Amino acid sequence: MKHHQKWPLTKWIWSSFIRTALIPLLVVELLFIGMYFVTYEWSKRTTVDSLREEAHQDLQQMASREGEVIANQIQSISNSTNLYRKQVAKALEVPAQLSPEDENRLGYSSKGVYYSKSNLDNDGAAVYYSAIRTAAKHDKEKVAQLLSTQSLMKDIYETHLLASAVYMNTYDSLNIIYPYFDVLDQYSASMYIPQYNFYFKANEEYNPSRGVVWTDAYLDPAGKGWIASSIAPVYNRGFLEGVVGIDVTISNIANNVLDLNIPWSGFGMLIEEDGTILALPKQGEEVFGITELNEHTYQSAVMKNTLKPDKFNMFKRKETQHIASIMDGKKNGMTKANLNNEQQLVVWSTIPETGWKLMAVVKENNIYKNISTVNSHLIKIGVLMIAGLLIVYLLYFLYLYRKTHKMSNQISEPLVEMNEMVDDIGKGNYFQSQKSFSIIELDKISNSITAMGHNLGSAYKELESAQSKVEDKESDLRALISSIDDIIMRIDSDGRYINIWTSDEQKLTRPKDELFRSSIQEVFPKEDADLFMSTIKEVDRTKQSKNLEYYIQTMSGYRWFQGRLSPIYGTDDQQKHFVLSVRDITDLKELQESLRHAKEEAERASAAKSDFLSSMSHELRTPMNAILGFAQLLEFDADESLTESQLENVEEIIKAGNHLLTLINEILDLAKIESGKLTVSIEPVEIAPVVEEVMSITQPLADRREITLDQSIEPYESTYVYADRTRLKQVLLNLLSNAVKYNEDRGKIRFSCYTQNDHMQFIVEDSGFGIEEEEIQHIFEPFTRVKEDSPIEGTGIGLTLTKQLVAMMNGTISVKSQVGKGSTFWVELPLVEEVEGINQGVSAAINEEPFSFVNKKKLLYIEDNPANLHLVQKILRKYDDIELFSAVNGEIGIDLAQAHEPDLILLDLNLPGIDGYEVLEKLRGIHETKNITIVAISANAMPRDVEKGLAAGFQDYMTKPLQVSKFSQMIHKYMYKDD
Ligand code: ADP
Repeated sequence: MKHHQKWPLTKWIWSSFIRTALIPLLVVELLFIGMYFVTYEWSKRTTVDSLREEAHQDLQQMASREGEVIANQIQSISNSTNLYRKQVAKALEVPAQLSPEDENRLGYSSKGVYYSKSNLDNDGAAVYYSAIRTAAKHDKEKVAQLLSTQSLMKDIYETHLLASAVYMNTYDSLNIIYPYFDVLDQYSASMYIPQYNFYFKANEEYNPSRGVVWTDAYLDPAGKGWIASSIAPVYNRGFLEGVVGIDVTISNIANNVLDLNIPWSGFGMLIEEDGTILALPKQGEEVFGITELNEHTYQSAVMKNTLKPDKFNMFKRKETQHIASIMDGKKNGMTKANLNNEQQLVVWSTIPETGWKLMAVVKENNIYKNISTVNSHLIKIGVLMIAGLLIVYLLYFLYLYRKTHKMSNQISEPLVEMNEMVDDIGKGNYFQSQKSFSIIELDKISNSITAMGHNLGSAYKELESAQSKVEDKESDLRALISSIDDIIMRIDSDGRYINIWTSDEQKLTRPKDELFRSSIQEVFPKEDADLFMSTIKEVDRTKQSKNLEYYIQTMSGYRWFQGRLSPIYGTDDQQKHFVLSVRDITDLKELQESLRHAKEEAERASAAKSDFLSSMSHELRTPMNAILGFAQLLEFDADESLTESQLENVEEIIKAGNHLLTLINEILDLAKIESGKLTVSIEPVEIAPVVEEVMSITQPLADRREITLDQSIEPYESTYVYADRTRLKQVLLNLLSNAVKYNEDRGKIRFSCYTQNDHMQFIVEDSGFGIEEEEIQHIFEPFTRVKEDSPIEGTGIGLTLTKQLVAMMNGTISVKSQVGKGSTFWVELPLVEEVEGINQGVSAAINEEPFSFVNKKKLLYIEDNPANLHLVQKILRKYDDIELFSAVNGEIGIDLAQAHEPDLILLDLNLPGIDGYEVLEKLRGIHETKNITIVAISANAMPRDVEKGLAAGFQDYMTKPLQVSKFSQMIHKYMYKDD
């Protein structure tokens, strides 16, 4: 994925400003600046070129102009020289005599020089006539002739600023010179003048045109230092009389002639034709590295022609050779040269008179200084422009930056606010107040956010309520799951775990997480896994839930589980998964096991107890019978009548014996009940005979104590209750005997029977002592007697037994009592409502004709309940060939069976005395009866009971109440099997 860099808004806007506006602007500006500099460079070059051109022209013009000025001056000196020459020539033609003043100041020196000893009125010329001429040969007239030109000389000298001396030299070394100076001091005595250049340069050889010529610079013998002279020969009829001249000192030339106004701090100089530097101003000395020979200290007279040394010659100087060669032969021109390590511009012009060259030297830099100034100005302008531009840019940047800030704030502030709103919404503050912004789009977004928040808020509220419901349900579910201890698993058809709920993970085979990655096959041993998988397949196929039980190793050890596997369906009715809900039944199993053990234990103990009791009672009954029998014999022995006291003792024995026998019987019954051996056979029992029987037994007891025994009985003819006949009698007898026992003599007892709804109430009321309130709850407990020390005989078991028996017959017993007034006990038993058949049967049986005994099949029915007997009798009426025998208890039944050997015996299992099983056992043990078909008839209709009966050896098992059709089938099956 491409990574996007994240920028703050300000930076983003700023950068886009820079990109879209500033950079192009900058580029354009840079282009402009570039163009400026190109233009600048171009214009600079053009300007420099034109300036240089101008400078060159100026210099050239200046050189020419100054050259002309100098030429004019030179020309003027040349003219004066010419004029003087003519005057001298004229003077030499005219005879002359020395003026007395001159005469006076002329004389001979000791060395024979004819000379002027002093000046003439400070305004005369000096005279030197070399000693190489003898005095005789000194031509004094010539001296006079030449001195006649003194005033002219003075005029010439004064006319020309440059002129330092005006003179005339003769072939015989006469020198007339103005202004005056001490010649002896300056000249040597025997100076030979024609040897000097200022003389011979004008002679026939050097100056054949006989015009004015200029000498090179030389050292002036007359003491003026370095000079150059304008000279001209003076011929007298073809003979060179001498040479006139006007001296110009080099310093003069340098100071006056070269005092040129050369621009750019340049300087001018004069060069002789042969390249010798004639005049060099101070400025030039530095440039050329030579000192001008202006002054000369005359130690001695200049004896010979002395020219400037070679170092002043341009041709001979290495650094100037080049310039000299360029200048050579060219009247004027310009060149460049490197002098004194600086680039110099050199222009020159030629002075035609002398062939001298006026040379102007200017430092190039000085010329270009202006140009550089212009340049630097332009650069300054450029720099100022850039600086200005930069400042403008800076300001513009600042302005833009502030604008950016403002703009970004304008956008970002709403955004930040909206962000806060969204954050707030995120934190759960859904209901944000409306905010308005000036930017329409942002305003719209803000509105949308507010609306969204509201929507979210309401949605969240709904969600919350839904969630809280879900949570409630979930916590209920959790509570349920944690409370039920069950493990609930969701499994797919491949046996893979999809979900598991349990409050105790230790009961799983592996940790939950591990299970989610596994399937049943991986977790369970093969056998168990196969069981599971086959169950899953079956459930998948039948779409019915299925139970299964298994024993497996869990994380907390081996445990028993009982599970139920159910299919669950998706929305499209397509079966999706299975739910296996499993319960740990290990404890239950263990409990069952221990219960079973305990039961077995108890059963064993109970059996041992029962065995003990029955053997005890059997053992006790035999001697008791003997005791009672013999006591009765004693009582009623007519032969040996007893004395009064003996009779009383025997009565005591009988009384105690009877009591003991009752106790034994009751304990036996109680023991039977406790051990479960006592069974009741519940069947419709007609009340009337039972009541009659118990009343007849009770009556004598009551009579003995003069207690009135009342019956307040509803017409109970043909009224039946569901009960065990024997036990019902036992119950009622018990209550009635108690009513007698715990009564006053001459007290009252009332026995009543009422039907109430679907029950029958048997009520026994007495007017006896009554029972204390707190004692009542205990009287049904075994061996509880209210008055332990009561003289009234009792065992404390009677009521206990009564209560148990009533309960076994699905009835209840209650009591209420008032001390001193009497007690009321009442028993409720279910009423038989459908008594039609029974009554009919009974009445029919009663109306039966006596049986004929010839060739008839025999059927023995051992049954103590007359109602059942009547029913069977009625059914058998239509079977003419069946003879019915009946017996009311087991013992009689066995006797009858032995005697008659019937074809079929119907045996009631619940008999007084020995029960049906015992009877069966006995019959099977007797030779005559062991092969007779015996069918059990019992009110115990549970399959278990049936199984038990068949296992004991009964051929068949019929349940009470008897159904006529089934009974008939049974008769056919066993009585007519041979037919
Ligand atoms: P017992 O052999 O002592 O009669 P029962 O279980 O029959 O034992 O009675 C328990 C006790 O209840 C009696 O001892 C007696 O105190 C009290 N009782 C039973 N019937 C009556 C009655 N009708 N009136 C007063 N007391 C009675």
